[in-house]
Amino acid sequence: MSYLITGGAGYIGAHVVRAMVQAGERVVVLDDLSTGVADRVPEGVPMVVGSTLDRALLDSTFAEYGVTDVIHLAAKKQVGESVEMPLHYYRENVHGLQTLLEAMAAGGVGRFVFSSSAAVYGMPDVDLVTEDTPCLPLSPYGETKLVGEWMARAAGKAHGISTACLRYFNVAGAAAPELADTGIFNLVPMVFEKLTDGQSPRIFGDDYPTPDGTCIRDYIHVADLADAHLAAARKLAEPGPVRDLTLNIGRGEGVSVREMVDLIAEITGYTDARAEVTARRAGDPARVVAAADRISSELGWKARHDVREMITSAWAGWLLHHPQARRDA
Ligand code: UDP
Repeated sequence: MSYLITGGAGYIGAHVVRAMVQAGERVVVLDDLSTGVADRVPEGVPMVVGSTLDRALLDSTFAEYGVTDVIHLAAKKQVGESVEMPLHYYRENVHGLQTLLEAMAAGGVGRFVFSSSAAVYGMPDVDLVTEDTPCLPLSPYGETKLVGEWMARAAGKAHGISTACLRYFNVAGAAAPELADTGIFNLVPMVFEKLTDGQSPRIFGDDYPTPDGTCIRDYIHVADLADAHLAAARKLAEPGPVRDLTLNIGRGEGVSVREMVDLIAEITGYTDARAEVTARRAGDPARVVAAADRISSELGWKARHDVREMITSAWAGWLLHHPQARRDA
């Protein structure tokens, strides 16, 4: 067996590569390096530089490496940017996926793990979001993930490809400092940036209908997320009928923005920092917490790391990538 991992030089993809390699699986990475970093791919893992939009490259990669399974993470993932550039998001995320599935169908590649997102749910009005909660995405990004799921399932059914659509909740942390997220687009790195710049971290609204008024999310350690990919890939490889799995990947535990900011200040040692409450950010749902039962019953997977470990490991990565912050801290 040989896994093609698209987006394997990205933050999450590199963690998936690491988990698969540590589990003894053979992998090859395809990444266009638009946001990925070649250094994240471990030595000994072949890397093909290019896009999933390049059908000829996909065909030759499948043939050269004897690809039997695909784990597809390569995608654009910024919600705000997707509003500005919807066609670019549809091209990269939907047309790129279509091209990949066409190559898989033509090449007889029969197993597919797809990186989806809790963004498919939009503003869920439930305490715990199950996989059957209606999908009403609020951004072009979320739409491309939902369309991607539909396409993967339909193609899977028609062409005998087992699929697992993994809906990530809020990913944080790092399995090793050098694998940390270098983008500053999510709560944890955004708070790190403010603290190390000597500014107040911002809380986007404290008038939500939640106990402390700030938004609640379900944070998942990227190392746990990577293990979930391994578990899903292994499930698809079990003998049996063509499978069609859709699974939330979260911890089933809500943490508020205020709780996160306080914990980050404590762990980083910026205990005097006071958060500044600003206006709500458009499109933020008050509460998004996964029901995580299905993945544990289907795959026997459970998250092992808590929020404290996510922040501690993310901070070690931040210090590695921002040596100036170490002196100031
Ligand atoms: N957030 C915040 N301040 C920041 C960054 C994020 O209050 O500097 C909030 C954001 O409004 C949301 C939560 O933190 O309620 C998680 O945001 P993130 O962008 O990390 O993920 P999302 O849940 O929006 O995908």
